[in-house]
Amino acid sequence: MAKHKTHYEDCDVLVVGGGMAGTGATFEARHWGRDMKIICVEKANIDRSGAVAQGLYAINCYMGMQWGENQPEDHVRYARNDLMGMVREDLGYDMARHVDSTVHMFDEWGLPMMKNEKTGRYLREGKWQIMIHGESYKPIVAEAAKKSADKIYNRIMITHLLMDEDQENRVGGAVGFNMRTGDYHVFRSKTVIVAAGGASHIFKPRAVGEGMGRTWYAPWSNGSAYALPIAVGAKMTQMENRIVLCRFKDGYGPVGAYFLHLKTYTQNANGENYEKKWYDQTKELVGEYIDHHPTPTCLRNHAFIQETIAGGGPIHMVTTEAFQDPHLETVGWENFLGMTVGQAVVWASQNIDPKYTNPELTTSEPYVMGSHATCSGAWVSGPEDLSPPEYFWGYNRMLTIDGLFGAGDTVGGSAHKFSSGSFTEGRLAAKAAVKYINDKKAEGIKVTDKQCEDFKEAIFKPLETYQVAQNEITGGTVSPSYISPIQGLQRLQRIMDEYVGGIATNYMTNGNMLKRGLELLAWLEEDLEKVGAEDLHQLMRAWELKHRALTSQCVTEHTMFREETRWPGYYYRGDHMKLDDDNWHCLTVSRRDPKTGKFTLEKVPVYHIVDENEKRKAS
Ligand SMILES: Cc1cc2nc3c(=O)[nH]c(=O)nc-3n(C[C@H](O)[C@H](O)[C@H](O)COP(=O)(O)OP(=O)(O)OC[C@H]3O[C@@H](n4cnc5c(N)ncnc54)[C@H](O)[C@@H]3O)c2cc1C
Repeated sequence: MAKHKTHYEDCDVLVVGGGMAGTGATFEARHWGRDMKIICVEKANIDRSGAVAQGLYAINCYMGMQWGENQPEDHVRYARNDLMGMVREDLGYDMARHVDSTVHMFDEWGLPMMKNEKTGRYLREGKWQIMIHGESYKPIVAEAAKKSADKIYNRIMITHLLMDEDQENRVGGAVGFNMRTGDYHVFRSKTVIVAAGGASHIFKPRAVGEGMGRTWYAPWSNGSAYALPIAVGAKMTQMENRIVLCRFKDGYGPVGAYFLHLKTYTQNANGENYEKKWYDQTKELVGEYIDHHPTPTCLRNHAFIQETIAGGGPIHMVTTEAFQDPHLETVGWENFLGMTVGQAVVWASQNIDPKYTNPELTTSEPYVMGSHATCSGAWVSGPEDLSPPEYFWGYNRMLTIDGLFGAGDTVGGSAHKFSSGSFTEGRLAAKAAVKYINDKKAEGIKVTDKQCEDFKEAIFKPLETYQVAQNEITGGTVSPSYISPIQGLQRLQRIMDEYVGGIATNYMTNGNMLKRGLELLAWLEEDLEKVGAEDLHQLMRAWELKHRALTSQCVTEHTMFREETRWPGYYYRGDHMKLDDDNWHCLTVSRRDPKTGKFTLEKVPVYHIVDENEKRKAS
């Protein structure tokens, strides 16, 4: 242990993860906490980290209130509809009423925004999306965070949260290790804002073998945002609400601009509009939700999946019409340059010119996240002026652990935040965290050296395990006494894929499969005590795996609890194939007891705040 030097930092606001939400939190913490010590810790390098690392082509969440384009109420209705009714409307409204101000700052900071030449307004790609030249999006927001923080630590992976030893259920900071130096870092902090992104690679991806690592969501998003709070007993919500994306095959190139801006459309192998074919069958499953406009994303996926099972594939995007217009052709290609260059490379390698050949689409493996078109994550307090009592416990975006806040993918119940909404939510969380400190809620936190030393031993254990066990390798990388991170990852992905509704079963699962999945996950957890790491990079892989495994347990527990198929197209409970509003028009909330590792689940009412208030006023 002596070879891993220990560094201590004491601070007021600790931001874990310097992605979109983390940079927003760091920036805003300085605005409200002028004299406070603010630290941001990032696993990669903040200049190019997180899901926006490569850049983006559109900001997907902008109301345009200054021009009367949309109001926050409209966005709540939109997200509610897309998620088949299941969102925290207080959180969604709160984000939406502030998001425009965030985008205006991006504009001021130099992010190149596309403008409509006639109106001078931001150029719309769709009702909510505005177009940007977004290659430098991440360095621009990183600069704001760097100017605001006392210190940014790059290349440190946070593995555990510290807890106050005097007052139950209060956070005391976080610990992690530097992946370059192998040093151990202790951050004792009055508040912690977890902004560590979503979870890819918990389900087996379509690309394995030669394509291993290629996924739609960022491959480095490893579920720390969920595992860190779950491990200390924070409540989670809607973890069953994983997302499946319809994307261009093999490169996961985005389809939004194609549908919205280029007005392309999909068809089956016979050139038919297959979505219509599945209308009656879908209506049987979900009732009137299929008549909503726009059609909820999961239901469009459902038609895609059913058509493929029925033998109507491959499904194509019809690009050959739009691409005859040279301007649209350019837009179509440029769309990939800002964020998914790989898609253009895949097309080149497969001899696909979308001007003459309609490219194939596919549905992805499932991902878990709270900021995109889905809303898995932590159960947090909403804002004082909007939230019903069950959704409010003092500080906006505070988890059920005192002093622990969340933003972006971390926060559950509030879908369709995207990059701008995640940054905004980071700002909201930071404002509340500063208030928490100013209200003297963070006085006298006790974190003993023993707590820190115990974590140090646990963190570096995989290096020790490998050191000893490497002598027992029987062939290749096979050893009876340790498991490597990649072996553990593949085992995890297979369990999730085959038992919890991945691509192997066309997203189908049921109570018995989930029960078996949980057994297998429990054995994996046992074996992960023996994960071995040959170097610091593998040590990071080991901890990423542990975080993914804990996140997966939570996802599986939630999927088992909700006995209905709320989102056909994201996953199916074969034993409860229909949407069941009588019993399941509610949010699911879980808590894992840190001492026993057992999960308990409950139903929590979903309050429809936006139109209900209007209805109440009218009656
Ligand atoms: C393929 C793709 C396309 C998208 N397209 C769009 C789009 O067109 N428009 C749009 O507006 N939005 C888009 N989004 C959504 C947007 O990127 C996310 O909503 C946003 O990045 C979420 O912010 P976040 O801070 O929660 O996560 P991230 O931005 O991913 O940041 C999480 C950060 O935490 C760090 N981290 C993780 N674990 C740890 C740990 N243990 N310790 C320390 N640091 C850690 C990560 O390195 C990362 O920097 C897209 C996302 C993807 C993946």
